[in-house]
Amino acid sequence: MGGKNEILNYVGGGWRPSKSKEIQDVINPATAEVLGQVRLSTVEEVSSAVDAAAGAFPSWRRTPATERVQHLFKLKNLLEESFEELSRTITMECGKTLDEAHGETRRLIENVEAACGIPQLMQGYNSEDIARGIDEVMIRQPVGVCAVIAPFNFPGMVPFWFLPYAVACGNTYIVKPSEKVPCTMQKIFGLIEKAGFPGGVLNLVNGAKDAVDGILNSPAVRAVSFVGSTPVAKYVYSHATAAGKRAQCQGGAKNPIVIMPDADMEMAARITADSAFGCAGQRCLAGSLVITVGEARGAFTEAIVEAARTRVVGYGLDEKVQMGPVITHQSKARIEHFIGQGEKEGARVLADGRGTTIKGYESGSFVRPTVLDGLRPQGEVAVTEIFGPVLGLIHVDNIEEAISFVNSGRYGNMACIFTGSGAAARKFRYEAEVGNMGINIGIAAPMAFFPFSGWKESFFGDLHGQGLDAVEFFTQKKVVAERWPKEWTRKF
Ligand code: NAD
Repeated sequence: MGGKNEILNYVGGGWRPSKSKEIQDVINPATAEVLGQVRLSTVEEVSSAVDAAAGAFPSWRRTPATERVQHLFKLKNLLEESFEELSRTITMECGKTLDEAHGETRRLIENVEAACGIPQLMQGYNSEDIARGIDEVMIRQPVGVCAVIAPFNFPGMVPFWFLPYAVACGNTYIVKPSEKVPCTMQKIFGLIEKAGFPGGVLNLVNGAKDAVDGILNSPAVRAVSFVGSTPVAKYVYSHATAAGKRAQCQGGAKNPIVIMPDADMEMAARITADSAFGCAGQRCLAGSLVITVGEARGAFTEAIVEAARTRVVGYGLDEKVQMGPVITHQSKARIEHFIGQGEKEGARVLADGRGTTIKGYESGSFVRPTVLDGLRPQGEVAVTEIFGPVLGLIHVDNIEEAISFVNSGRYGNMACIFTGSGAAARKFRYEAEVGNMGINIGIAAPMAFFPFSGWKESFFGDLHGQGLDAVEFFTQKKVVAERWPKEWTRKF
């Protein structure tokens, strides 16, 4: 694998340095250490990956599913062996704590495990005698060359919401990681190489907008999965679908958590703190708004402020650290701006993360947990994705108002409720307009065998990543009607 710190592409079964002149440092957001350099691949370099994937497709699709998954079984074992190293790499390039990185690596592996069931999962169905002597069969076939464009916040897991299912179904694949965090995929592709996938089945192209446009403009790419911010999700979805490709594009979020007066306040505050401040608020399922109902206000506010103030912030590899930095200094500046904006809109800053420096890591981009109380419900801060450890509190009188606030948002990634009442929980489950929901749960991340949903401006498309949705997305259905008149039966 090339020079020590040089991030390479992996195309057609071999490591290739990009020749692009655009080069970017990969920076550890806690220490500011330069972890590597990534070149932002050109459209031509994407084309050569697409050619490699297209060249590998005919023989990969003819490889029986039972054989294809043997490579995934091998990959699963290799990932287990590298579990610690991969998790540390995630922490170093992305900032989350080692515990959080362990969780990410685990879910990544679970997706490989789920896709190993493909021989059964991609079965079709049939009916005999749809008319006299005529049978009908639905078979699933792979769609061809597919690609994923990934965000910075889960450098390992997000591509694996798609990749294992895509190749298990017989497609060939291209991964375009976030240019901010390319080291994790670099390591994973080292394992993919060892797992013995034929050359061209799995390809890695590092880059940014040019690489994305290369994927979108390539006629041979038949399906695109995207995860990232809403404006880019819209861009990718509109360009991919206009070019006749399948597309599933996950966007941003602003996840509300409703606290009912009958909730277990200690549990609700502890779990909400993990949701809002875990991964420094840089999860697409991070709780970012709390709506307290009636008397929940006092006890919950006190508990969450205490949780915010006492959370241990620092380098994610250090023991006892509960929250790492945000991804860049630009991100820190943006988050601090929104805290100021909340204040201008009338909120009280009960815990203030602005101006955070951590001893020993003075160059890191840290923002301590922040709580904005009495946020204006339709103000800029209440409706904008901040993507940092900032929790806004809004107070309402009843569950109807809470649900109506939840449904007024442009996003629909996740909403949660904490309550001891089954009736309140059911009302919420029935009426809240979101794709992922938690009931006495603060980060409602679907397991690998459920779709990772998302509604409204959090998702463009219809089939989601993970589980059976992924199988549907990565296969096309062929329906065959067959007539074999019995008079044609040869007499032997
Ligand atoms: P981003 O949109 O900036 O980048 C995502 C990908 O798009 C990267 O690979 C990047 O190289 C590429 N890209 C960026 N700008 C582009 C442009 N103008 N044209 C073409 N491609 C472009 O997102 P990010 O900052 O890496 O990730 C954070 C965002 O991702 C947040 O909004 C978060 O909510 C979202 N996210 C959503 C989910 C979900 O499941 N809905 C999951 C994880 C992250």
